[in-house]
Amino acid sequence: MIEKTATELLAMQAAGQASAAEIAEAFLASIRQREPQLQAFLHVDEAAVRSRAAQVDAKRAAGQPLGKLAGVPVAVKDVLCTKGVRTTAGSRILENFVPPYHAHAIERLLAEDAVLIGKTNMDEFAMGSSTENSAYGATRNPWNPECIPGGSSGGSAAAVAGRESPLAVGTDTGGSIRQPAALCGIVGMKPTYGRVSRYGLIAFASSLDQVGPFARTVEDAALLLEAIAGHDPRDSTSVNRPVPAYTQTVNQPVDGLRIGVPKEFFGEGLDAEVEAAVRAALKEYEKQGAKLVDVSLPHSPYALAAYYIVAPAEASSNLARFDGMHYGHRTKQKADLIATYSKSRAEGFGKEVQRRIMIGTYVLSSGYKDAYYVKALQVRRLVKQDFDIAFEACDVVMGPTTPTAAFPIGAKSDDPLAMYLSDVYTVSCNLAGLPGLSLPCGFTRAGLPIGLQLLGPAFEEEKLFRIARMYEAATDWHMKRPAF
Ligand code: GLN
Repeated sequence: MIEKTATELLAMQAAGQASAAEIAEAFLASIRQREPQLQAFLHVDEAAVRSRAAQVDAKRAAGQPLGKLAGVPVAVKDVLCTKGVRTTAGSRILENFVPPYHAHAIERLLAEDAVLIGKTNMDEFAMGSSTENSAYGATRNPWNPECIPGGSSGGSAAAVAGRESPLAVGTDTGGSIRQPAALCGIVGMKPTYGRVSRYGLIAFASSLDQVGPFARTVEDAALLLEAIAGHDPRDSTSVNRPVPAYTQTVNQPVDGLRIGVPKEFFGEGLDAEVEAAVRAALKEYEKQGAKLVDVSLPHSPYALAAYYIVAPAEASSNLARFDGMHYGHRTKQKADLIATYSKSRAEGFGKEVQRRIMIGTYVLSSGYKDAYYVKALQVRRLVKQDFDIAFEACDVVMGPTTPTAAFPIGAKSDDPLAMYLSDVYTVSCNLAGLPGLSLPCGFTRAGLPIGLQLLGPAFEEEKLFRIARMYEAATDWHMKRPAF
């Protein structure tokens, strides 16, 4: 059962070959077996999962209409608020936070009759590329438990790759869906900014954050996005456009496909095995009739620097509310108001979060704002312009998702700059607000997955899924499974 895709699990239930209860039991058993090693989850409530699955079965038995995800388990990154269920964002400061409401994405999942199987581990406040920055311990890569699963949505990616859940939801501010998807050998998509509501998502950098799907196949990712996307007046940046039925078109190849290959994505720092796998994937597209065109994203060398100013700036502002008074952990030490703020924050936030708050506060301060924050916004505009020009010559931009495959736990934890470089190919997409997808395109000799990244024009998720499916249909990387 745990090898089935969400699409297959839906069909099995419709044919009377499996119940939601049986599906839930199978994944709960898988979680019990694998969690001691993987540590992908922060919270699994078996009784709640069972009663939810039973509810869906009862609905089916009564002949009531069922949602798109009826009886399908979905794991959710612990940065999305779940009513009555502890939501920590991977931080000590929210250790005891029980939200009084659901995030929009959670409401959508429940409305489609999904079974929420648990909350997944993550880098604290989604800051990181390895899930080592969680206050609750590191998650491991199912392909090699000595390695990181990527981050910040590493728990969601590991849960899907490790057959603990067929689907998972993550968030991507600078690569946190695509990068762990690549390093765990699964499909992950960051939708266009505004496609999925951020209501109930604990904010990291509000102008960059997007919620999106993880799955083992392109079709399953399309199914999950279809369920969570859509307008929500509670998020003023949520876009009021109809959600296409992605699953209806995903198997239609794109005729006359033009693939933009930016030379900036194949420069220094790119691992040779990753490059070879990505070039082979481009060849496969050519074999299917696609045309490769050279495009240039001349400002992409500055994207990472701009990102690491804009994201910390917004984070420093968003995280001001966690002070032990308004929200979050309050120090037990006796102190006046200001000291209570600073002691609570010193105790509640981890090192990386503190570093980001300091950088963010610095680049926003008077005297430095023009030199850093405003300059970074100017670069951001140029990065977006590069894509506008590139998309005049191509339908999709392709390249590697990450410069290397998964690295060993601990290898970069003392070197923030080395860690930040993991995002060198993913951050431009967030700065420009575009949709991006990563799908498996091979393995290193050491047996670690490699990801191919597809970037498209705004709101062209439908086409990205179709293009991704063209490659998936011709290859079997997505069928490989980690040894357990
Ligand atoms: N790794 C990047 C960072 O640390 C991106 C994180 C994310 O997308 N949430 O900021």
